[in-house]
Amino acid sequence: MDWPALRAAVQSCTRCTLCQERSAAVPGRGGDSAPWLVLATAPNGDDEAQGRPLAGAPGQLLDNMLKAIQVVPDKDAYVATLVKCRPQGDRAPTADELAACRPYLERELALAGSRAIVTLGHTAGKALLGAAARGKVVRLEQIPVVATYHPADLLRKPEDKARAWADLCLARSAFDGRA
Ligand code: SF4
Repeated sequence: MDWPALRAAVQSCTRCTLCQERSAAVPGRGGDSAPWLVLATAPNGDDEAQGRPLAGAPGQLLDNMLKAIQVVPDKDAYVATLVKCRPQGDRAPTADELAACRPYLERELALAGSRAIVTLGHTAGKALLGAAARGKVVRLEQIPVVATYHPADLLRKPEDKARAWADLCLARSAFDGRA
């Protein structure tokens, strides 16, 4: 599956029951060849309305965070969610829903050729790695993964921004082969 086929498959997907809850599936956004993969858990209402993950104010904060570690948003980074359809009430996706959507993530990773992954929020880190652990580099098939805060949480709790900055610096070091 190339990028257009992948996006079309996501938009018409019925692999899990989230297809009955969504108003629109939300494919990832960003560079088709992106050294960084940024991963959140699920689209929210704004993402669904705009058809892109991490839309609105959290997306603007994310873009600024990426620029601060010399990552050009929508070019060097591909932003995606673990499930591409919004669970009603923004509940956490179930294990079955995560498993059903995982092949799309695997394909996104293969197509983008990313060499580092940053997960946003506790659920995304836990779902991808089996445990959410900030402050360290975990390898997923040799790709360094660093877990940090979701930008929406940072907007609610700006006092966590310093810890998020430390996470991003760690991710940058891992990407550069220094961690
Ligand atoms: S969440 Fe993923 S697997 Fe489930 S319907 Fe949406 S695109 Fe398909």
